[in-house]
Amino acid sequence: MKGTAMDIPDDHPRARSLEIREKLEEGYKSGLVTEMGLIAHGRGEAFDYLIDEKTIKESVYAIKVASKILNDSQNPVISVNGNTAALVPKVISDFTNETGINVEVNLFHRTEDRVRKIIKFLKEHGAGKVLGRNPGKRIPDLSHKRALVTKEGIYEADTVVVPLEDGDRTEKLIEMGKKVISIDLNPRSRTAQESSVTIVDNVVRAMPKLFEFYKEEPDVDIDEFDNEKNLEQIEAKIRRNKFGKD
Ligand code: ATP
Repeated sequence: MKGTAMDIPDDHPRARSLEIREKLEEGYKSGLVTEMGLIAHGRGEAFDYLIDEKTIKESVYAIKVASKILNDSQNPVISVNGNTAALVPKVISDFTNETGINVEVNLFHRTEDRVRKIIKFLKEHGAGKVLGRNPGKRIPDLSHKRALVTKEGIYEADTVVVPLEDGDRTEKLIEMGKKVISIDLNPRSRTAQESSVTIVDNVVRAMPKLFEFYKEEPDVDIDEFDNEKNLEQIEAKIRRNKFGKD
C-alpha cells in the first residue's frame, strides 16, 4: 500500500479514503502538513464515516447559502491551512483565479518556511496570487499564530471561508463583524457551532461544490437559513444513522 495512488486498487472499499490519506502523507513529507494536521484528519475521518462519506442534503443547502453569501460579499477571502492545500490545491487555485476571491495562508503551527512552501505548492497548481507572507495585522485578542493576517486579506475581509479551522479564531472573526463560512466534518466542534454557515462535509467534496454553486449563483434565501437548526438536523441524522436517498 505504501507509495503512490497507483498502488491502491480501484475496487478497494476504502480506496477514496486511502487516496486522501496518501495526499496528506505526501503533504507531510514535503513540509505542508504537520503531525497535528494528520491527527486532525483522523478526527474528521471518523465523522465522515457517520455521514456515509457523502454530501448530505443539509450540507448541500449550507453550500448554496455559503455561495450566495460569497457572491454578495464585497471582499471575501478563503483561508487555507496545510491540510486544505494538500487536499484541494487545484480547486483552491481555480477558485481564486476565476473569481478573484483572495486566498490567504493562515496557520496555527505557523513557520515562515511552511507558509512559503504552501504558497509555492498552490502556485505549482496554477494559483496566481496567494496572500499570507509578511502579515502586518493581528486578529485582536487571539494569542496564537493564527492571529497573524494580512491587511488586504483576512483583516479587511467581510466574509472568510475557513476549512478545517480551530474554534478560537472563528469566534474572534465573528467578533470582528465578519461572516464565517466553515467546512468542518464535526457538527459539534466549536468552529461549527460559532460559524455563520457551517458546511458539514469533507473539504475534498465541499470545496469543488462551493466553487460550482458560486458560479451558478443559486437562488436561495439566505435570511431563511438557520445554522443552529441545520446542525441539529445533521446531528439527529447521524444519531439515527438513516440517510435515505440523499
Ligand atoms: P474546534 O476548536 O473548532 O472545537 P477541533 O479542536 O476539533 O475544533 P482541530 O483539532 O484543529 O479542531 O480539528 C480540525 C477540525 O477539522 C475537526 O473538527 C475535524 O473534524 C475537521 N476535519 C479534519 N479533516 C477534515 C476534512 N478533510 N474535511 C472537513 N473537516 C475536516
